[in-house]
Amino acid sequence: MSDNIASRHDFSQKVYRPRPRILIRPMVLFVGEVELKAQESGMMKRVRLGKSELMVSRVGFGGISITRVSYEEAERCIHAAIDLGVNFIDTATGYYDSEEKIGRAIKGRRDNLIIATKAPPSTPAEMNEAIDKSLKRLQIETIDLYQFHLVKDEETLKKSLNLLPILEKARDQGKIQHIGVTVHGVDFINQVIETDAFETVMIALNFIVCEAAETALPNALGHDLGVIAMKPMAGGHIEDPYLAFKYFINLENVVPIVGIETPEQIKEVAQILEDNIPPTSQEIEEMETVRRESGNRFCRRCGYCMPCEQGVRIIPATIIKSLGKRLPPKKLITENMAAAMQSLENCIQCRKCEDKCPYDLDVLEMLEENKAYYDELCEQLGSS
Ligand code: SF4
Ligand code: SF4
Repeated sequence: MSDNIASRHDFSQKVYRPRPRILIRPMVLFVGEVELKAQESGMMKRVRLGKSELMVSRVGFGGISITRVSYEEAERCIHAAIDLGVNFIDTATGYYDSEEKIGRAIKGRRDNLIIATKAPPSTPAEMNEAIDKSLKRLQIETIDLYQFHLVKDEETLKKSLNLLPILEKARDQGKIQHIGVTVHGVDFINQVIETDAFETVMIALNFIVCEAAETALPNALGHDLGVIAMKPMAGGHIEDPYLAFKYFINLENVVPIVGIETPEQIKEVAQILEDNIPPTSQEIEEMETVRRESGNRFCRRCGYCMPCEQGVRIIPATIIKSLGKRLPPKKLITENMAAAMQSLENCIQCRKCEDKCPYDLDVLEMLEENKAYYDELCEQLGSS
């Protein structure tokens, strides 16, 4: 798993801008330093996760973002989510210390939680080892949902199917309870669904990358798979959490996983989903505008292409143009960005990053275009 996987997360560098139209319900209680909605744990609407029969909250807690905060902050986030009624926590073996942080935070509160983790398909011995390590890090007796991570092509699917007996044995031993899969690549999802080998499927879904909602989603539901949505904010490309989560109101069988770094963020998302107000025609129009302007060719900051063996800092260099849509040039031309752009000189054009990108991006071309964009900005600033 990549070194900078901690940099992928949906709320990175987001300024939270709660919209005034969000109704803040009058009853509040205090958890730590923040006000949280007075909502007893377990009150949040539950969604049946397909044939697994797991009943999970309308929104799940994603474990990537807490890799960026301290143990104490992670615990505050997780406790805030649980207090709001979130009972579904998803993590991965590859998310650095996420499993440890979750393990520590859920001590004494595990009973009503559904804990999911995942590891890429490997060898039988490595898979067994991964399960045992996850159990240890999470400090739990059983993992409610264990997923094959990053299944993106025939090869990884075949590997996963061959490893199913290993997971089934772990299930018989009580180490895991249910088996799911996370899939990258819209065209490939249906192929995975139709194997009927898994109980849940996690897919990238948001109002920009939404093809799967029309094609794979009905198929998944038809096969009675639980559907979990990763990247609800398109890896940070969608700026507005309100709009991002309104999209899921009409997808009531889909459980988005949200990555947060502060308790306030989960509060806002939970409230959008709890209010359950479908997007207005104006909001749908706004989504379409963002979608139109974005196309499909944008970096989701997932980090799967990293690390680059030559030290190229791919992510900042692939997102500068997107950032440029909302930030003034002076904010873009930082030391950090300058260092990222400098690192492009190390690129030997091996295209390994493109092979690893689950979104089939032409990374090299994007880097080249973005470098030209950056140089132009520098020139403009220099001459202004
Ligand atoms: S093509 Fe360049 S950026 Fe991509 S992995 Fe190779 S050296 Fe790194
Ligand atoms: S280039 Fe592709 S793999 Fe790399 S961070 Fe962006 S979307 Fe992810």
